[in-house]
Amino acid sequence: EPFDVVKFSNRIINKFLQRAKDQQVDLTLESTKSEIMIEADEDRIEQVLTNLIDNAIRHTPENGSVKLTIQSFEDAVEMSVIDTGIGIPEEDIPFVFERFYKADKARTRGKGGTGLGLAIAKNIVDSHEGLLYVKRGKERGTIFTFVLPKK
Ligand code: ATP
Ligand code: MG
Repeated sequence: EPFDVVKFSNRIINKFLQRAKDQQVDLTLESTKSEIMIEADEDRIEQVLTNLIDNAIRHTPENGSVKLTIQSFEDAVEMSVIDTGIGIPEEDIPFVFERFYKADKARTRGKGGTGLGLAIAKNIVDSHEGLLYVKRGKERGTIFTFVLPKK
């Protein structure tokens, strides 16, 4: 079923607004276009985006921000979740998509989760013939990006 990823993203962001506000994290959405139609499994893509935003908010201290950006290209859409949080150590970056991976046990102790979210997200994006990758923010924080073909 085709759906509009901008409308879709607004809906997902809305689910997290109260939690972000309670944590004093600024949660925003930026899109290059007001409507971007794609053919994909909406429920699966919701699982991906939900996990990325959940992770970003969970690892961002107060007064930080989480921003979702959407860019439309000819045949693909690119979405990034950019946070100003604690970041992922360089040496851990290669392992974040492995099942049960949790960065530095001491650091993330008590911070929710089973460590499956990103492994599942990777599987979902792969099954759509898309890309999912992570990089460290220039000064701080983390950027998760995924690219999905429009068809
Ligand atoms: P689950 O998603 O299964 O509930 P989880 O959030 O711990 O549990 P993943 O979503 O796979 O699992 O994330 C794996 C680990 O990667 C996290 O536990 C955390 O250590 C690290 N991580 C993920 N996203 C971020 C982020 N935005 N900033 C800092 N660390 C992150
Ligand atoms: Mg998670």
